[in-house]
Amino acid sequence: MSRLRTLCFISAAFFLLIRGISAAPLQICKFKDGKQAAVSLTFDDGTRDHLTHALPLLKQYGFKGTFYIIINRVRQPGKAPRKPSRYLSWDELKLFLAEGHEIGNHSMTHRCQLTKEKSMDDVRREINDPIPVFREKLGIDVKTFCYPGCANTPEIEKIVKEHHLGASRSRYACGGPKFTLEQWKRYMETILSNGEDAAMMIHGIVPGGGWSPFPSLELFEECLKDLKQREAVLWIDTCAHVFAYKLLRDSSVIEIRSETPRRITAELRSSCEKAPDIPLTLRYNGPERITVTQNGRPIPVERKNGTSLFAVFPGEFILQR
Ligand SMILES: [Zn+2]
Repeated sequence: MSRLRTLCFISAAFFLLIRGISAAPLQICKFKDGKQAAVSLTFDDGTRDHLTHALPLLKQYGFKGTFYIIINRVRQPGKAPRKPSRYLSWDELKLFLAEGHEIGNHSMTHRCQLTKEKSMDDVRREINDPIPVFREKLGIDVKTFCYPGCANTPEIEKIVKEHHLGASRSRYACGGPKFTLEQWKRYMETILSNGEDAAMMIHGIVPGGGWSPFPSLELFEECLKDLKQREAVLWIDTCAHVFAYKLLRDSSVIEIRSETPRRITAELRSSCEKAPDIPLTLRYNGPERITVTQNGRPIPVERKNGTSLFAVFPGEFILQR
């Protein structure tokens, strides 16, 4: 009897060992497409130079930005002063959405940092009251929030997360009279070596535009050029897309349903009730070439540095090797 028990134990251990070894090569990538770090270009306060100067260059270089808008500063129809207003109107903001950029929530009034509001009710109003306004004026549900003056506390963050995917995170201030391309490159090197997901915090683009502008439009463009050259290792996307990926990534596991030497049936399973319906990038570390299908459809597989990358939605998928 004890010999049988020993045999069972050895068989179970062997099975777990085999399963452990073969399951380990399949993992969820930290960032989309297996990139080393993620960067979002964020533009705060909704000034007109975002339309006149940032938008054409973003289009030229193929980037999507996140534009954080303060409700009370959006130019109202009929109230336009004689000179063009410093701030964008609702109709102008629709142009950003039409080009695939994100419009995010930068509070109701931006009157002070949220940590300096008189009560938590005021904080809650600053964060939540813009939501129906964005819905009414632009027909969107805002996904991300940006703290006025970058100040927050865990309690404030909790309120933000009730109705947003999250708030702007590690932020690198870009612009101001002393800003240089070298500073930008230093930021990039830091972000890449830390494997961060970071937001480049941009206000004004040109002198006379928004707060703390770049010294020149040429420098802003040089930064975009530098960013473009890093695309192979950097995921450059809106805050909403990066946050959604992170939310799904951090709540998901890969469960192996069955496995043979030639085939793995697995499930990407999220414990998050409101998991976003987007794909996650998985990495298969085995040396052999693989094919992947999900719901009967073939999934593109990219070979990179001796590994295979592919993107699947939550649910079952089949890997053949
Ligand atoms: Zn601001």
